Amino acid sequence: PCDAAAVAAAIRAAAAVITTHRDELVRLDQAIGDADHGENLERGFGFVVSSLDGEVPDNPGAVLKLVATTLISKVGGAAGPLYGTAFLRAATALGDAPVLTPESVAAALRAAVGGVVARGKAEVGDKTMVDALTPAADAAEQTAAVAGELAEVLRAAADAAEAGAESTVPLIARKGRASYLGERSVGHLDPGARSSALLLRSFADSAA
Ligand code: ADP
Ligand code: MG
Ligand code: MG
Repeated sequence: PCDAAAVAAAIRAAAAVITTHRDELVRLDQAIGDADHGENLERGFGFVVSSLDGEVPDNPGAVLKLVATTLISKVGGAAGPLYGTAFLRAATALGDAPVLTPESVAAALRAAVGGVVARGKAEVGDKTMVDALTPAADAAEQTAAVAGELAEVLRAAADAAEAGAESTVPLIARKGRASYLGERSVGHLDPGARSSALLLRSFADSAA
């Protein structure tokens, strides 16, 4: 069952994935931003792991809330508050349910995207993490409605997020630092879209 301990383990695994991909995320942000996305996330998830070492929250929502408050308080830049808001909304959606279900995960992902959009005001096509997260939430809902298994829902979300991230390459950035480049942002993968896809793939792998 996907209880608090399993969710905490999935968050730790995601932190390790971020560390593995730190330099890749730095390079992506070097091309169209200020080269700190990999460092911002690695630091942030490092603090998240420390938070989880300090306490084991007793339901999945409480784990995500701890992730959220840690990211919001420790990570600067655009992505820290955006991911923080995403995890906070996901936590609220889960409430104090003791285990995750396919439906609750799909709803949490939808709530997470809503938080990112409320905070950052980006739409699909603006070349941000929203381009990965929105199709991921769509795919998760569709899969939860027809299939069942939690792992399948997360796999569908991760697949859609990867495709969504790739779709940012030809786009002109309209939000965040990359938007300062205008047309020169074309031809580059958005770093936040990439990190969103990495996180969702890691969650899917943890559930498999
Ligand atoms: P900063 O740009 O402040 O250095 P990061 O490099 O950590 O922050 O994060 C950059 C990423 O944040 C971008 O690649 C993009 O995906 C995301 N981002 C920036 N602004 C927004 C926004 N308004 N809405 C959604 N995502 C955004
Ligand atoms: Mg940056
Ligand atoms: Mg920065």
